[in-house]
Amino acid sequence: MSTLAAPPVEGRTEKKRLVRRLRPDRSQKVRRGVQAVFVLLNGWLGLQFYLWVRWLEQGGQGVGVGRPAGVEGWLPIAGLMNTKYLLLTGRVPGIHPAAMFLFLAFVGISLLVKKAFCSWLCPVGTLSEYLWRAGQRVFGTNVRLPKWVDIPLRGLKYLLLGFFGYVIGTMSADALSEFMMTPYGLVADVKMLNFFRDIGLTAAIVVGVLVLGSMLVRNLWCRYLCPYGALMGLVSLLSPVKIRRDAEACIDCGKCAKACPSGLAVDKLMQIRSAECTACMACISVCPAQDALQLALPARQATTAAERWRRRALGPVTVACVVAYIFFAMVLGARATSHWQTQLPKTVYMDLVPKANSLTHPGM
Ligand code: SF4
Ligand code: SF4
Repeated sequence: MSTLAAPPVEGRTEKKRLVRRLRPDRSQKVRRGVQAVFVLLNGWLGLQFYLWVRWLEQGGQGVGVGRPAGVEGWLPIAGLMNTKYLLLTGRVPGIHPAAMFLFLAFVGISLLVKKAFCSWLCPVGTLSEYLWRAGQRVFGTNVRLPKWVDIPLRGLKYLLLGFFGYVIGTMSADALSEFMMTPYGLVADVKMLNFFRDIGLTAAIVVGVLVLGSMLVRNLWCRYLCPYGALMGLVSLLSPVKIRRDAEACIDCGKCAKACPSGLAVDKLMQIRSAECTACMACISVCPAQDALQLALPARQATTAAERWRRRALGPVTVACVVAYIFFAMVLGARATSHWQTQLPKTVYMDLVPKANSLTHPGM
């Protein structure tokens, strides 16, 4: 172990002694590996879903492809509605049940390892991250909005969440079931695909502005606009695992705060309680001091930092295992109990999918 002792300088506060990390950090490699797996998984589901839609649009000609229920992960509102339906009736909903199982898996992940869904699994979160990194290369830096702009903007995602929460919260079990059984509800996933396939000029401009904004401001979409991330952030407040700083081991270099994409004052706080923390471990990856910063349960009572964090800190592989375990346990459990697939006759899809663009929201 190498150490660096700063010489005391008269008239200045003595710098803390740095005990360098024993091992190089692997958290970002592991996290990017998990992100890549989920991007590939979503790409595969997207391709299969597209081929299924095309097959139905062509009247079922050619080789048929099955509908991949996993695309329902892109229907977060259906996930929320179905979860409420399950809570009210005790019954697993028949339409878009996978949306609910995936939603519950993400809630479980948020309860255990903070908002890891956003920085480890979500393809939009991954895209956002690569966009701000690309922006750093193109523009030389990212923009940090002043607090008086940043804080009200962060509230936007909670307003959107409140709106959806209010609408769903006021629906009875019958109303939820009726909505899902409308033609619009049955092919909500096809409508989502068609939005991107037949994107209009206005929508394309909005997407373009979001892409450019995401290159300038770190995690623009996740930080300010995503109601799903807002909900996962609120759930994550209950997580016993947090980023925790050891004041004795920390040398107050401030590198962690600079690296934090959520702009959190990691170098000043003893633990990060914020709903904005995504457990990305970027702060840990740049920390030069052994045991100074960890994603961990509360510390033990001990005299040395190593003892305080022994069997309390979660390494990146453990986080990846927790995320994968909850995700696959939920998916495989739903499959094993035959609750994963939406149970609809093929004739219904053959009728609705080709005319999905003309189906409007029941409230309109
Ligand atoms: S505090 Fe650390 S883990 Fe949390 S968002 Fe910031 S960099 Fe990521
Ligand atoms: S990176 Fe943060 S936690 Fe690590 S030594 Fe520097 S200030 Fe302390």
